[in-house]
Amino acid sequence: MLFLLIGASSFSALLIFGSRKVWLGDDSLELPPSISEISQDRRLLGHFPYPEADQNMLVVVHPGIRVHLDTARALKKMTAAAVSDGISLSFLSGYRSHNLQKEIFFEVKSERNQTAIQRAKVSAPPGYSEHSTGYAIDLGDSTRPETHFRKEFENTPAFKWLEKNAPRYHFTLSFPEGNPQGVSYEPWHWRYEGSADALREFENARTRSSSIKN
Ligand SMILES: [Zn+2]
Repeated sequence: MLFLLIGASSFSALLIFGSRKVWLGDDSLELPPSISEISQDRRLLGHFPYPEADQNMLVVVHPGIRVHLDTARALKKMTAAAVSDGISLSFLSGYRSHNLQKEIFFEVKSERNQTAIQRAKVSAPPGYSEHSTGYAIDLGDSTRPETHFRKEFENTPAFKWLEKNAPRYHFTLSFPEGNPQGVSYEPWHWRYEGSADALREFENARTRSSSIKN
């Protein structure tokens, strides 16, 4: 539990971490704004921190792909609506544990000889991926598999359908072109924001990222 008491007349705070107390005096005001803002929202290489989903809430939506139950319910409705419009969505990636994200970020990407900053443009560090919440899903067009995980997905009937209809099912494109988090454009990566819990998870990404420049 963390308690934060803020003085009224000047910025000073008493942080209580369990039994440890740390007094932050007026010195904290001298931090450059960028550093103080980053420490407030705890971003790492542009990505916000995310907890792992409750394992009991994860359900299988496709062999090898699990998402949060609420995401699964919304996906079911959305894919049924898509099918009735002649669109066939495929599920490419859902929940990822912090450990799996660690392998992707530190092992797969290092084999490609990418620096951490280059990797962070296309993949989140472990503990910082929306996929760990169970609310993120990577979608594809099953009639155009060559566009899976590619920018060209934006030219498929599935993407055009999603752009028009996904908000009805509470799905939002997390990393549109030129997003303030500085993450590469990912037309395939959508997050579910149709419950109070999901909204809370993405509060920072929604409200804070636009106020900070990378
Ligand atoms: Zn993704």
